[in-house]
Amino acid sequence: MAEEVRGPDTTALDEVVTFTSELIRIDTTNHGDGECRERPAAEYVAERLAAAGIEPTLLERTPGRTNVVARIPGTDPSADALLVHGHLDVVPADPAEWTVHPFSGEVRDGVVWGRGAVDMKNMDAMVLAVVRSWARQGVRPRRDIVLAYTADEEASAEDGSGFLADRHAALFAGCTEGISESGAFSFHPQPGTTLYPIAAGERGTAWLKLTAHGRAGHGSKVNTANAVTRLASAVARIGAHTWPVRLTTTVRAALTELAALYGIDIDTNDRDLDVELLLDKLGPAAALVEATVRNSANPTMLKAGYKVNVIPGQAVAYIDGRTLPGGEEEFATTMDALTGPDVDWEYHHREVSLEAPVDSPTFAKLRAAVERFDPDGHVVPFTMSGGTDAKQFSRLGITGYGFSPLRLPPGLDYGALFHGVDERVPVDALHFGVRVLDHYLKSA
Ligand SMILES: [Zn+2]
Repeated sequence: MAEEVRGPDTTALDEVVTFTSELIRIDTTNHGDGECRERPAAEYVAERLAAAGIEPTLLERTPGRTNVVARIPGTDPSADALLVHGHLDVVPADPAEWTVHPFSGEVRDGVVWGRGAVDMKNMDAMVLAVVRSWARQGVRPRRDIVLAYTADEEASAEDGSGFLADRHAALFAGCTEGISESGAFSFHPQPGTTLYPIAAGERGTAWLKLTAHGRAGHGSKVNTANAVTRLASAVARIGAHTWPVRLTTTVRAALTELAALYGIDIDTNDRDLDVELLLDKLGPAAALVEATVRNSANPTMLKAGYKVNVIPGQAVAYIDGRTLPGGEEEFATTMDALTGPDVDWEYHHREVSLEAPVDSPTFAKLRAAVERFDPDGHVVPFTMSGGTDAKQFSRLGITGYGFSPLRLPPGLDYGALFHGVDERVPVDALHFGVRVLDHYLKSA
């Protein structure tokens, strides 16, 4: 148990800052359409794993789009393996909008700035710092731990986790659970209250293409079969639709914990529960759940016509749809009804929804690890409104939790920094994350 008490060494606390900063300086902007190069960041990680005696495997489907996978053997050969994954790519950033250059990795007044400081080179660096400290201290985890640093999360994942799941499943043999981004960072809905939302599921992706057909013709004539009018009507119905509330197990658990914390006397299993009223009462804390109490569908792109006096025979729209676990069928039948007889719809891109158990031993250990280092914090499960690499790894039977622990100052709106301007993470928060991850991963 000596390792338990010891925790990460000071070198690990220094390295996590250096690694976050240096990874930010390696520009891995993913522009979509395959335009990205993760290889320098992958080599950076691989060199530091190898130096700690952890053998990295570099894998590419497309030249330059590099993934790194490594396995740390555990002490209990009968235990299932745990996957710890993080992506190496980032979304674009326009330097003109930022206070510091987004690829400077500048450390200023105890804060690391830059694209990826939040999403998610911070977690990549924390995991790297932890496993290197184990090598120095002679620590071995209980379970086998498989590390995966992936390419292409911010686009299709075809060169990243999708490729790994399709073509290199053997590297993940024995993995039953995984942890990654978007969870366990502190959130302060009101003074004196600190929540740590741990993700236990993701809504599914249902991007749609709508096509309206009609009769092409002169813009000055009577036309009762105008494709643009038909499309616009369908798009307006979809945009204005109020989806019914459907509580998944995770969201219900979240509402139960939040209601108890706020002293709201309510039974979340009550069939007549007024969820809107409960969300109202929860105030800012409702942000954790409000996007995941129902399916959603937002019109985002329209394409039609080429000249003002020509009625086109066809018009196209795209919809960003998201489905709750178990909500896929209702989503499809609702779309049939909302689009109507004159507009066809099809899936443009589709990804599964995920739901991980919140009454599992793993969730209990994740909760305990956070509360050990912040006894005043309250862990709450939640479902992510969007998706991560966990969707791809779920095809290997791996149940994913969003767990990138950080203790943040109350004034920092961390959630707004994902894909936002002036992405930054305090050094103290990284140190907290290293301590929590070290503790959790050893005993997982
Ligand atoms: Zn991310």
